[in-house]
Amino acid sequence: MGAWDLTGYYSSLTEQSVKKLQQIVGIDNVIYDDPDRLEPYSHDEIADPEYAHFPEVVVKPENSAETAAIMKLANAEMVPVTPRGAGSGLSGGAVPVRGGILLSTERMNRIIEIDEDNLVAVLEPGVVTNDFNKEVEKKGLFFAGYPMSREMCYIGGNVAENAGGGRAIKYGVTGRYVLGLEVVLPTGEIINLGGKRVKDVTGYNLLQLMVGSEGTLGIFTRIIIKLLPLPKARVDMLVLFEDVAAAVSSVPLMIAGTRSIPGSIELMDRLSLEISCNYIGESTKQFQNAGAILIVELDGNSAEYIREECLLMGELCLEHGAMDAFIADSPSEQARIWNAREHVAEAIKALTPAQSLEDVVVPISNIPRLVEVLRALSQKYDLHIPCYGHAGDGNLHATIVKKEEDSLENWHKKLPVVLRELYLAVKSLGGTISGEHGIGHKRKQFVQLVLDEASLSTMKKIKKALDPNLILNPGKLWG
Ligand SMILES: Cc1cc2nc3c(=O)[nH]c(=O)nc-3n(C[C@H](O)[C@H](O)[C@H](O)COP(=O)(O)OP(=O)(O)OC[C@H]3O[C@@H](n4cnc5c(N)ncnc54)[C@H](O)[C@@H]3O)c2cc1C
Repeated sequence: MGAWDLTGYYSSLTEQSVKKLQQIVGIDNVIYDDPDRLEPYSHDEIADPEYAHFPEVVVKPENSAETAAIMKLANAEMVPVTPRGAGSGLSGGAVPVRGGILLSTERMNRIIEIDEDNLVAVLEPGVVTNDFNKEVEKKGLFFAGYPMSREMCYIGGNVAENAGGGRAIKYGVTGRYVLGLEVVLPTGEIINLGGKRVKDVTGYNLLQLMVGSEGTLGIFTRIIIKLLPLPKARVDMLVLFEDVAAAVSSVPLMIAGTRSIPGSIELMDRLSLEISCNYIGESTKQFQNAGAILIVELDGNSAEYIREECLLMGELCLEHGAMDAFIADSPSEQARIWNAREHVAEAIKALTPAQSLEDVVVPISNIPRLVEVLRALSQKYDLHIPCYGHAGDGNLHATIVKKEEDSLENWHKKLPVVLRELYLAVKSLGGTISGEHGIGHKRKQFVQLVLDEASLSTMKKIKKALDPNLILNPGKLWG
């Protein structure tokens, strides 16, 4: 079963349908015929502007009833709808590649309830993830499944991408914390899945089917999130290694040697360190001449205990050939250790739009082999490939970057070839092409490399069952 051919399938918006949309959400909540105000909704955070596409109209519903009315209208008029959170995505999922209606969830931004007795929160999809965490932290709680873009992204986008982040090794990804969803289906029906309960085996698990569905199976209008008690203490450690292989092979030793799982184990190679330090105007002195670093974070309720564990992890790394290790337990030292890691994505993005931020994931013991593959590709195709990511869970953000002296024409020719080679190598290492950023429309032509025909065909049947007119977020995953 190949990609759906949707050429000429959808209708363009008419002035009359725009008026109907204005009646549904109010005239102030519709943007139409105004390129300057439509532009911010035409792209996400992918560096390359080639992935951008303008919507015909942006609508901003306030609740599920308005969202449902928009979906019914879109089905009646055969106009596609693309749901959007904050637009911080890195796979083009929120980009309206087939035009039509861009449905922004930005006005659905209330935290409805923080239920301390049940350790859950009920909120709307347009709440900024970090704002949510700040609110629950006031009550000694936290949402552990957040991504590193937490200051920008929305919780609805996190659920739709099943976002992960630095803390996935210990706490898992967003999906683990989603207990309930109110969903507007592509047809405009509203369903409620799950609830405040921790257990539920009543019927198919439609809740987790929605998680990670990249805005193609339904629009989340209310989300119930499981919370955890906020650990009282945190210690960070910077460990310097000669190369990535030495860094990664220390990870299982640290865990086995302390019988404890760190909250984060983040990796950066030399090139990504230099690019990031250069961007933030910081010296690379604290990293000496390390070829790779690990940033290890431990959290718990006893500062003394986690400091001891951290010391032991540092000793294990040094015994295993690490160059040096430093512990940071004051907020200013911690900020210093994390600074380069936190800015690396924007630092690389600032180099050139001719780049592709990858999100490949392999079993962690295969990271050194993956790094070898990347090194070989960078030499064979004469590219820069800085590499950083979540060493604790095998998810590496290798970014393929055009060299300044290379032509754009050459770059456009070689990128698909490099990606295909990389993805096939990743597959042979037991990995896949996206760990957390999703397929969107950036990777859709490669999905067949890693999903077999029967799995793809099953997914398409599910899509057709829920969205018979293929109205919701077409042009993504395979469409
Ligand atoms: C600097 C940087 C760091 C990042 N770090 C991480 C990281 O550590 N881990 C990680 O996983 N990602 C990371 N990302 C990617 C991105 O931030 C996440 O994918 C995030 O979850 C997207 O949220 P958003 O609100 O911006 O969604 P958008 O980009 O607006 O949308 C993403 C997808 O979700 C769908 N969607 C949005 N809202 C809804 C809704 N209410 N109902 C149904 N579908 C919806 C859209 O259609 C689209 O397919 C990073 C991005 C940047 C720029």
